[in-house]
Amino acid sequence: GRASSDLRAHSTQPVEKDPMLANKTALVTGSTSGIGKAIATRLARSGANIVLNGFGNADEIEALRASLARETGVEIAYDGSDLTDPKAIEAMMGRIAERFGGIDILVNNAGTQFVSPVEDFPVAKWDLILALNLSAAFHTIRLAMPGMKTRGWGRIINTASAHALVASPFKSAYVAAKHGIAGLTKTVALEGAQSGVRCNAICPGYVFTPLVEGQIADTAKARGMTEEQVKRDVLLAAQPTKEFVTVEQVAGMAHFLCSPDADQINGALLQMDGGWVAQ
Ligand code: NAD
Repeated sequence: GRASSDLRAHSTQPVEKDPMLANKTALVTGSTSGIGKAIATRLARSGANIVLNGFGNADEIEALRASLARETGVEIAYDGSDLTDPKAIEAMMGRIAERFGGIDILVNNAGTQFVSPVEDFPVAKWDLILALNLSAAFHTIRLAMPGMKTRGWGRIINTASAHALVASPFKSAYVAAKHGIAGLTKTVALEGAQSGVRCNAICPGYVFTPLVEGQIADTAKARGMTEEQVKRDVLLAAQPTKEFVTVEQVAGMAHFLCSPDADQINGALLQMDGGWVAQ
């Protein structure tokens, strides 16, 4: 009861497990890599069953799935559906409902980028980025929302970007899709507000992922700069702290958004960008 949990809160015993999300199920799209992988790991450590999604080497994905299951003791499933295909999303959501009884925490994180002047932007790349970075979230949300409303609890977290709030040249599809996800976030927040469903977006600046790490080495070579110069003057030119966001920090924000302290955070576009969009 209440008294014993109060005692526990004041205990000096180390807390071994964070059971905040026990008996919840989370789908984290694009979780075979980068930010999604960190979010899935953090939510699993908090007791949620996890559905991983994304592309990659089958053996490496199975190794990730198995080690996370072993470490946390929760159920970790993997579904490699291509989220640019609405039919594949419907099938995936059906399989998850069958196995787990629905999704309590939906993290729309899968995304991709392409850089080109708008007049040369390949039409197929535009369609791909809009499908993955925006429409996929519409489909997962519309299919997860009924169960969340029925159960009276749901958390929808969209990995947006600083580019949901400001633009950069040559990223027309990405910026359009991320601004779109900002609007979707606010709309869904209003629709779920009285049903216990919360919908928010995390808006990171540059996050240090293996992808970015590779870019640093390549750019340094191409421009004859040191890696430190590339970080400060090229990649982090717009990021006032001149430091990358870490995937663990983004995962920490996702975890917080699932906590009771975040119950009144709804429809928020949460900047994690070292001050980029404050300028
Ligand atoms: P990443 O490339 O490391 O991961 C992308 C994930 O999406 C991978 O798991 C990949 O397999 C998956 N994916 C790609 N195409 C897919 C498809 N068709 N269907 C299903 N899954 C697919 O990238 P990341 O840096 O971790 O980015 C994750 C999210 O964070 C993206 O939405 C990105 O726009 C956003 N973001 C990243 C940064 C950054 O600096 N890295 C900054 C702001 C926002």
